[in-house]
Amino acid sequence: MSPQIGVLALQGAVAEHVRALTASGAEVRTVRRPAELDGLDGLVVPGGESTAIARLAAPVQMMEHIHRAHQDGLALFGTCAGLILMAREVSDPAALAGFPRIGGLDVVARRNGYGSQLDSFTEQLDVTGLDEPLEAVFIRAPVIEEVGDGVEVLAESRGLSVAVREGRVLATSFHPELTPDHRLHQLFVDMVGAV
Ligand code: GLN
Repeated sequence: MSPQIGVLALQGAVAEHVRALTASGAEVRTVRRPAELDGLDGLVVPGGESTAIARLAAPVQMMEHIHRAHQDGLALFGTCAGLILMAREVSDPAALAGFPRIGGLDVVARRNGYGSQLDSFTEQLDVTGLDEPLEAVFIRAPVIEEVGDGVEVLAESRGLSVAVREGRVLATSFHPELTPDHRLHQLFVDMVGAV
């Protein structure tokens, strides 16, 4: 059976992830409420705006439900804002103060660490496990400031980790869903299906 993968659809780049995951062989559905996590093998938490996603999640305790589902085996893929919501710690926590996050990834992230929207950039990245470079789009991306011992760094840019994996968590500070190259989504689908 194809892996069942959800895309958290509170805010952000949802349709692009749905397309990339579907093309990678997953059965995909969007998720807005806790009950919709039932039966999923994996969940993508997309890029967008972490403060907006956290605020929209709060009334239904979506972040806490995802956290619990992850502890019960749900694999997670966080891109950009999604990475911020999975980081063990956010080093500039004021904007997210009082709003639960998911956690699950032993990194420290700094929101907008590469600068403003105008400092967005695209780069060719060498990624562990991919034989050709991947085009990576960074948009008001978080900087990964610290990486825990159990975290595997899959790609670096400008001396900083930008793609990481820890057990059943994959995360990128860039947006793999905004290019037609679905190899990172394929990696996630394979990771989810490998259990
Ligand atoms: N800067 C955004 C945030 O803090 C993330 C940007 C993105 O997801 N493209 O959530």
